Amino acid sequence: MSRQRPRISFEYFPPKTDQGKERLINETTPALNELAPEFFSVTYGAGGSTRDTTLGVVSSIRETGIDVAPHLSFGGDDETAVAKLLDTYKERGINRLVALRGDMPSGMGAAMQLVYANELVAFVREHSGDHFNIEVASYPETHPEAASYDSDLLYLKGKLDAGANSAITQYFFNVESYFYFLDQCAAIGIDKPIYAGIMPITNYTNLARFSGNCGAEIPRWIAKKMEGYGNDTDSVRKFGIEVVSQLCQTLLDSGAPGIHFYTMNQVEPTREIYNNLGL
Ligand code: FAD
Repeated sequence: MSRQRPRISFEYFPPKTDQGKERLINETTPALNELAPEFFSVTYGAGGSTRDTTLGVVSSIRETGIDVAPHLSFGGDDETAVAKLLDTYKERGINRLVALRGDMPSGMGAAMQLVYANELVAFVREHSGDHFNIEVASYPETHPEAASYDSDLLYLKGKLDAGANSAITQYFFNVESYFYFLDQCAAIGIDKPIYAGIMPITNYTNLARFSGNCGAEIPRWIAKKMEGYGNDTDSVRKFGIEVVSQLCQTLLDSGAPGIHFYTMNQVEPTREIYNNLGL
């Protein structure tokens, strides 16, 4: 019996300029849409800093008939503002969300209270019923602020039990961490899909800095190889595509339900990796 096609989705961040937005809507999205993703998603800046641009990008993509999920957190907003945003999304034909706690915007110190994702999921279900398909974040290598591996896992279960439909992982390069995580999830009764989040490697300096902050480990052999390439961007790109394609192939061969690509708003190298998978 042939296996069902794995679910593929693509993540964007909202561009800062009109020109960037135009390129994303009119060039990047049609090109990536040829790969038949189930949906696109658009991130939400820390503290709700991109509320209007996320809404704008999501609305423009939706107007072209493509399925798209805004990421959402309480940020600095109260329940009234979040409820209004949910209503606007619903009116604009959006029926998916990625629900998050988010992080403190830099410079805010402890001035802001973050709302845990399980509370946001419960709020969305209370306000909008079953209208939205809700995804939440998950961490095969453990969230950087988590008290322990097991507590992080239980909080993931809490978000799913609050009404989320599935989870997408933080990106990772250690494939064992993902499959061990799936086993641990199953052991505590999580039976909803956990999609693998995948970051194509393009710029090693940025990746190393970001990975340090979000708790994703870059295996030593990958780091050493990348460092060895220095400013040779072609070699970094080529090696990145090779390593990430292999990672994705292993994931799909071993039964991952699907892949969510952190595209960084670029068609390549996501397309190249996708094509290597023979989907
Ligand atoms: P939560 O699930 O609320 O967890 C946060 C931390 O608190 C964890 O350490 C957890 O163990 C603990 N915890 C959870 N629930 C409770 C509770 N009820 N009581 C006590 N402790 C608890 N960030 C953005 O700013 N914008 C985005 O668009 C964005 N998109 C993302 C998409 C994906 C797929 C992923 C994986 C991450 C994304 N992030 C985004 C990053 C995310 O916001 C950060 O990792 C953030 O620090 C945690 O968000 P969360 O929803 O996982 O938090």
